[in-house]
Amino acid sequence: MKSVSTLTSPLADLGLQQSNIFYQLSPDELIASALQRKEGVLSDTGALAIDTGTFTGRSPKDRFIVDDHITHDNVWWSKVNYKMDGAHFKGLHKKMIAYLNGRDLFVRDSAVCADEKYRMNVRVITETAYQNLFACHLFMCPEANGINDEPEWTVIAAPGFEANPETDGTRQKNFTVISFSKRTILIGGTGYTGEIKKGIFSVLNFVLPHYYNVLPMHCSANVGADGDTAIFFGLSGTGKTTLSADPNRMLIGDDEHGWSNDSIFNFEGGCYAKCVGLTAEKEPQIFNAIKQGALLENINFFEGTDKVDFDNIAKTENTRVAYPVNYISNALIPSIGKAPKNIFFLTADAFGVLPPIAKLTAEQAMYYFISGYTAKVAGTEAGINEPVTTFSACFGEAFLPLNPVKYAELLGNKIEQQQVNVWLINTGWTGGPYGTGSRISLTYTRAMINAVLNGELDDVSYNTDPIFNLKIPAACPNIPAEILQPANTWADKESYERQANNLALAFVNNFEKYTATSPINLIKAGPNIVSAVF
Ligand code: ATP
Ligand code: MN
Repeated sequence: MKSVSTLTSPLADLGLQQSNIFYQLSPDELIASALQRKEGVLSDTGALAIDTGTFTGRSPKDRFIVDDHITHDNVWWSKVNYKMDGAHFKGLHKKMIAYLNGRDLFVRDSAVCADEKYRMNVRVITETAYQNLFACHLFMCPEANGINDEPEWTVIAAPGFEANPETDGTRQKNFTVISFSKRTILIGGTGYTGEIKKGIFSVLNFVLPHYYNVLPMHCSANVGADGDTAIFFGLSGTGKTTLSADPNRMLIGDDEHGWSNDSIFNFEGGCYAKCVGLTAEKEPQIFNAIKQGALLENINFFEGTDKVDFDNIAKTENTRVAYPVNYISNALIPSIGKAPKNIFFLTADAFGVLPPIAKLTAEQAMYYFISGYTAKVAGTEAGINEPVTTFSACFGEAFLPLNPVKYAELLGNKIEQQQVNVWLINTGWTGGPYGTGSRISLTYTRAMINAVLNGELDDVSYNTDPIFNLKIPAACPNIPAEILQPANTWADKESYERQANNLALAFVNNFEKYTATSPINLIKAGPNIVSAVF
């Protein structure tokens, strides 16, 4: 156990004077502690494998923002930003401290935002060692960045503490509550580590645009040998982490970035990659990052071994690994690049309707950004496997405390000022919808992205599809031309048209809530509705 004199007072102020504090343990020490506490076991490559408990994913409906003088008139209170009043927050905070006081606690001082101008110090206090290891990997380490200042934000995460929805103002026993006036995030009743990272992401998504005019983005980013930055926006599962890990480019980060006047900077110091179906051949960089120090979540081993079975999704499909960005061999440190030359909007269209690649006009870029479309495959309940359309503004509505239009305006200005190329990439289905077609191969998606980055799509001809008005390249190196037009890949053209029109209609319906505040050229950038029969 390490003790730091300056630490005693703030934690005592918090009311944790009876706790046994493990401060700023190294990854090895945290892993030793986690093993001793039976939080997890080691894999054959030396990674710590733990289970996060009942929750193996975030719980968006249980994420609250405290209604106070900072947030009252500024937060976009909505189905993603639920209100909690100050009195409930105060009560919950007090109960949580009472629960934690006297227990072993892991305390970590870390920071976010690779660009020093926006650096924010975060203290993470956790009930378990593995959550602290997560914070150690995902946030930036003070050792590397010389952070000695007092924390600006505090995250308190206690999976074992449950709220009482009757009296605490929560929906269920689990909760994430963000208080901007107290600069505190409380996480209870869940051991899912993603709540920690996305809690801080939500804070930055308020602070950076509101006070600094910096655009926060749910995107990954990498940079080529010429210093050209590419960013990849997309909802969960669309390929941000996978596609940004590219042996030919330096990785800036895999999930959360800011776009200031002149830079793209990572908020985090690590990555949080999906493990499902992972192979050394398809995703070598991520595969090789699962080494000593890494944190594996909710995976299964091959029976009787300590070798991870990446295809086993008995606990959840959302199996994950957390590791510091420098576990990727070609990570850029500090994680800062120039303004992007190319922006990719990733969508995993399980209807198999959107083209695998299209070039967007500036208006279309805004339209698709505000729409934030993807289609997920619903659970296999009662044999139903229909894809479900998801529209999540700015490809991250669940983390956006402000009205999405604010983020869209910031992006629009930047695209206009800096002449960025914007591409729509469908990493989802081809040859028909989920059930009939198949997911487009990673090799093809990578080849299309490489073609863009190498400038090989600058001079090819483009065809415009009649429903979405998207400009589709007629040819692309290393790709069979017929897969570029989705209609060509469907055996039944009529069902393609029906499906495409249905999706077009879903886009138009979703956009209705923005039409009052959007200029006409933006509304017109959406798809055509060909007929009312569908
Ligand atoms: P999150 O926001 O949850 O971190 P993400 O956008 O980072 O999500 P990834 O972790 O990159 O998403 O997940 C993409 C998954 O889809 C990976 O498991 C990857 O192997 C798989 N995949 C299959 N085909 C493709 C493809 N053509 N392009 C990208 N990913 C693909
Ligand atoms: Mn990711």
